Amino acid sequence: MQQSNQVSSLESYLRTITAKGRVSHAYLLESPSPDMGLAIAQKFAQMLLCDTGDGCGTCKNCKMVQSFSHPDLQTVQPPEDKKQISVAQVRDVVSESYVKPYMGTRKVILFRDGAAMTVQAQNALLKVLEEPPGDVVFLILCGNHMNLLETIRSRTTLLQLQQMQPSSGDIALEEEERDRLFDLAQKLSGGNLTDCYSVADYFGVRDRKNRKEKKTLALSFQYLLSVFRELLLIKLGCGDLVHGSSALLENVAGSTSMEQIIRVMEQLALGMRRLERNVQYDLLIMSLLYGCIDDK
Ligand SMILES: [Zn+2]
Repeated sequence: MQQSNQVSSLESYLRTITAKGRVSHAYLLESPSPDMGLAIAQKFAQMLLCDTGDGCGTCKNCKMVQSFSHPDLQTVQPPEDKKQISVAQVRDVVSESYVKPYMGTRKVILFRDGAAMTVQAQNALLKVLEEPPGDVVFLILCGNHMNLLETIRSRTTLLQLQQMQPSSGDIALEEEERDRLFDLAQKLSGGNLTDCYSVADYFGVRDRKNRKEKKTLALSFQYLLSVFRELLLIKLGCGDLVHGSSALLENVAGSTSMEQIIRVMEQLALGMRRLERNVQYDLLIMSLLYGCIDDK
């Protein structure tokens, strides 16, 4: 795995969302190694605070981020003699987040290990994630996003730098079914209305006899999610972590934006939670598909 590749792919992703003003207020960055996570988060912060908006590396803002001395970059970690981030620390961070940036138009608050927050600390952070000040971006690093409260996970954009099991090849579906689902994944990656409607047909929204059983639907979502996870890895320059990476997958990754991949992954994860809660079938499928449309 090449860290520089990941950083440069993230750079181009961030450049796009920064240019389009689509920076999310909070990112959960899951990385296999804390060092790599920190390097990427630092690059992220640099791009967010840079004079030119693309992390030039030479302006005053970039230099200060590189040395962690930028007044608008706040890092949060356990005190030296402790292992956890306390609720008091998080409350301080939350009040600080409402103070206007000192140098530029944004502030970045970086948690070097989000999972080090106590449950109370996470709950304290939740309040600001629910109604975040417009000029603050939270970057929360973690080794495994499942170690954070579900409420935190659902209010942050997850960026994963490692492969999560199972990979698309391990999901118990017939070959033919996988091919069809891969085709659907390609449609979702385009993010357009017509293609999303044909996905609705596959799931039997118009014709009830094509409806899937709950178990099959869960497997289909899981499969689609793993395809998008693989696309994300390729996008991040970690294609070597994808089992049996194919030219087809590379192709789809090449023609899909990072934003769209993340959008679909979020919708699929949400769809899986709705399925667990037995949300009404058509509503579940249609909200998933509408969520995947890139209408901006
Ligand atoms: Zn710069």
